[in-house]
Amino acid sequence: MNRIVACHCPECKQYVQVPWTGQTDLMCPNCGHQLGAVSNPDDVFDRCPRCPCRQFYLSKNFNQFLGCLIMAVGIIFVPWTYGLSLPAVFLIDLALYRKVPHILNCYRCGCEFHGFEDQHHRFKPFLHHIGLKYDKYR
Ligand SMILES: [Zn+2]
Ligand SMILES: [Zn+2]
Repeated sequence: MNRIVACHCPECKQYVQVPWTGQTDLMCPNCGHQLGAVSNPDDVFDRCPRCPCRQFYLSKNFNQFLGCLIMAVGIIFVPWTYGLSLPAVFLIDLALYRKVPHILNCYRCGCEFHGFEDQHHRFKPFLHHIGLKYDKYR
């Protein structure tokens, strides 16, 4: 399982993915800038490595654009398929969505944690009232 922390590097302004193998320093693979430090290598989610936030949420790494595109194709083909293209694309969408892995996001800085499946049971999907608390940081 590849564990990756993904975020925007403030130095080179790139969206970077840093493989995490238990080290305490998170370095930008692009420019070497220190992105943050893991306070507890046994538990990354003790505190976000990028900011002082201790709250995280589960989200789907699903490409909304792709989902809409598939739907649009289904709608275009309605006249030729007597409407059967709609349930077909719906199923394709659903299958795609199921395949897409969950990721964890920090509420405050939005940085993403890929490949931490064993930790997912500790977290819930995005909760609006918690999100509001961190709105000012984004
Ligand atoms: Zn960088
Ligand atoms: Zn954070």
